Amino acid sequence: MATTFKILRYDPTKDEGPHFQTYTHEAKPRDSVMEALKDIRDQQDPSLSFRYSCREAVCGSCAIVINGQIALSCRTLVSTAGPDLIVLEPLPNMDILKDLVVDMAPFWEAYRFVQPYLQPEGGVPPTGHHIEESELEDVFRLTTCILCACCYAACPVVTRESEYLGPAALAKLHRFVKDPRDKRPFEALKRVDYPTGMWGCDTVFRCNDVCPKEIKPAHGIEGVRRALVVKSARRIFRRKP
Ligand code: SF4
Repeated sequence: MATTFKILRYDPTKDEGPHFQTYTHEAKPRDSVMEALKDIRDQQDPSLSFRYSCREAVCGSCAIVINGQIALSCRTLVSTAGPDLIVLEPLPNMDILKDLVVDMAPFWEAYRFVQPYLQPEGGVPPTGHHIEESELEDVFRLTTCILCACCYAACPVVTRESEYLGPAALAKLHRFVKDPRDKRPFEALKRVDYPTGMWGCDTVFRCNDVCPKEIKPAHGIEGVRRALVVKSARRIFRRKP
């Protein structure tokens, strides 16, 4: 059965503003939206731009808006998204570079800002950074982020306040705050202690709803806030860290 794809097209080097272009495509029964996009590009319009890589929800590069819902195009079947009409748009909250490709620079900038790497005490021990399986359970879910930016695109705070760090970066910070091997100083938490840092979240949980890995980034933000309050209290009573 043929599906009509309405795809947002935009090329900032041309005079024409953002507009929809319609394509008709007959997908195979188990084809994903990403596979349909590749077919349309290969068979109908080589100028169509979109991101993809791993095709199995690992690289996080194919997130777009599919019929109004933020999702990974590789994980969304044409048969369930449509099948008659599928409207495709780029992720919101970021500038369009071309068609379905957005400029993720603000997302990466926020991510880098939280120092998303293990900060242990001293150097690397000869046996590596050991962690007990029971301790890993606590942080494992948070390690599965694929940096797709679905949460960042869905966040209403990012929409109105572009300086806000966003859910993924703060959830990543929580991942390291919870890791018993991480000994980052109190100052690392203070780095995000400002209105468009950890306190920016409105707790409307849209990030939790769209995250394809069920990381629940909003809970991570709450965890960072809690950690700051607890550590601050300990410092008042001089029980560092
Ligand atoms: Fe994507 Fe979820 Fe990571 Fe946000 S927290 S970047 S939605 S995987």
